[in-house]
Amino acid sequence: MTERSDERSSREKIDERNNFGEVDKPRIERAVREILLAIGEDPDREGLLETPQRVARMYEELFQGLRQDPAEHLQKFFTEEYDSMVIVKDVEFHSMCEHHLLPFVGKAHIGYIPQGKVVGLSKIARVVETVARRPQLQERMTETIANLLMDELNALGVGVVVEATHACMTLRGVRKPGSMCVTSAMKGSFRKNTKTRAEFLNLALQK
Ligand SMILES: [Zn+2]
Repeated sequence: MTERSDERSSREKIDERNNFGEVDKPRIERAVREILLAIGEDPDREGLLETPQRVARMYEELFQGLRQDPAEHLQKFFTEEYDSMVIVKDVEFHSMCEHHLLPFVGKAHIGYIPQGKVVGLSKIARVVETVARRPQLQERMTETIANLLMDELNALGVGVVVEATHACMTLRGVRKPGSMCVTSAMKGSFRKNTKTRAEFLNLALQK
């Protein structure tokens, strides 16, 4: 009985969160052509002829997370008595900064303490991937992953640390090559219990 109502409430949350529209590639193509004209290029020269279509296909791929639901990866879980910390380290991701539409890439480290529900480790990597493939902010991405695990798994606690380099920082503006941005989100016992948090950070950030 509880299983069913669990299922329904996560289904509803899924529908709220998602936008399942298709990518309008011709529209991207027109826009890219406009950008090329605006910077003083000739979009009809040989090298640029197919650029608008290429960019449209690329954006469709890079933003495919908008048409996917990260919570879906957490619907299949095992019922386990295990109540110690589970850590998934070095989950690589590629995302796009929503302020500049430039990539930011890095690694996510995720820890949680289950309360009966345990998911396959690859599912957590899929959650990161889906959340990353959207116009994104590192801070929001970190929070979103933590909240998803907390809500969908009904975990006792969740910790997420994301380390990334942002092309918008290394290519332009302040130009700080190699600088790394680190964000974290702590939920439940990871927030309340300093020892739990320290254990997680120690294991997660250990090289
Ligand atoms: Zn940026």
